Amino acid sequence: MSGSGDRLRDEFEACFGGLAAIGQDPAGGWTRLAWTDEDRDARSWFESEAGARGLAVEQDPAGNLWAWWPGPGEPDAGDVVATGSHLDTVRRGGAYDGALGVVSGLVAVGDLIARGVEPRRPVAVVAFADEEGGRFGIPTFGSRVLAAALDPADLLERVDEDGTSLSEALAAAGIDLAGFGPDPALVGRLGAFVELHVEQGLGLVDLGQPVGLASGMWPHGRWRLTLTGEANHAGTTRLADRHDPMLGLAAAVLAARAAASELNAVATIGRVEVDPNSSNSVPGQVAAWLDARAEQDQTLDWLVTAFQTAVEEAAGRNGLTAELTSESRSPGVAFDPDLTARLYASLRAAGLEPAALPTAAGHDAGALAAAVPTAMLFVRNPTGTSHSPAESAPLEDCLTGVWALASVIEDLACH
Ligand SMILES: [Zn+2]
Repeated sequence: MSGSGDRLRDEFEACFGGLAAIGQDPAGGWTRLAWTDEDRDARSWFESEAGARGLAVEQDPAGNLWAWWPGPGEPDAGDVVATGSHLDTVRRGGAYDGALGVVSGLVAVGDLIARGVEPRRPVAVVAFADEEGGRFGIPTFGSRVLAAALDPADLLERVDEDGTSLSEALAAAGIDLAGFGPDPALVGRLGAFVELHVEQGLGLVDLGQPVGLASGMWPHGRWRLTLTGEANHAGTTRLADRHDPMLGLAAAVLAARAAASELNAVATIGRVEVDPNSSNSVPGQVAAWLDARAEQDQTLDWLVTAFQTAVEEAAGRNGLTAELTSESRSPGVAFDPDLTARLYASLRAAGLEPAALPTAAGHDAGALAAAVPTAMLFVRNPTGTSHSPAESAPLEDCLTGVWALASVIEDLACH
């Protein structure tokens, strides 16, 4: 790292610390669900950090925030080099998922400006809205609406756990519902999008490298399983007379695990709702959410079919009805080979040995990849843990990530 290393370190720590102060959950970790007060505070933080670096912030019609580097590259001229990630988190998530990409983008662009670099193309740092889908169950919402990969009209009546609809939440956050939707002109101006993200596994730890490149993203989806039986007294209802949906849930959890294990995939039931959720009642209904990911779309289909078959058998044995509905599905993504090759060359020239890693996580970069040449940079995560307060990235690796991102933006925007 050059003599600007100390300044970069101070900038990074101040910038990252500012965002990490927002949405600290009293129960541990960070909770910044989309369109909440914490999300609003994070979006205000983004505007002020961008402003402090001389970047002009605009909101697109899908609610995403864009910080533009004014100068020789005009935002309307096309061929934009964009970087960024998201500000929202899952419930009680970690400090780095999303945040690291936004902070690194701001610090990297700020560093290029401070060094007097003059881009020949417009440069932007973007903070995508509602990437996690932690409130309304629709991941990469902002980036997919922007790229016209989702029709918001189908989704605006979705409700969160408190019964607030997505349209009400957007309106409360000051989003113009009349103009809400895609922006093909903006997407058409993007010449490259590079998302930096904390790695959500141990690939870079195993390789002993601080940063790496994403080769592609696994297809993934979410399904809602509703098991309906009959609520009854936990003491007086004979076992033979019960229609207990919890037994169906137990079978579903084991079926998800078995199918994922056989298919070299992953499947998770991490959220359930039990009705009436009473300790001395046989429940009447259980809803559970299946998150499943596999290397190939076809394998993912097999997994879900195997899961459904096992659940229906368990429902039949226990006198239940089972309904499985798809809530979201994202196809597999291969990142742009030319852009990724250029990143690889740029990082090699900077003395790094970036490895290519596939990812089973969803990202805004994946949502944009169909429309824009897109690539991803990962930063090493020593715990390999994500969506948890244990998520981590050493400061030195974060700074290597910022430095790599600045090199890449300079290469793309100045040549
Ligand atoms: Zn993320």
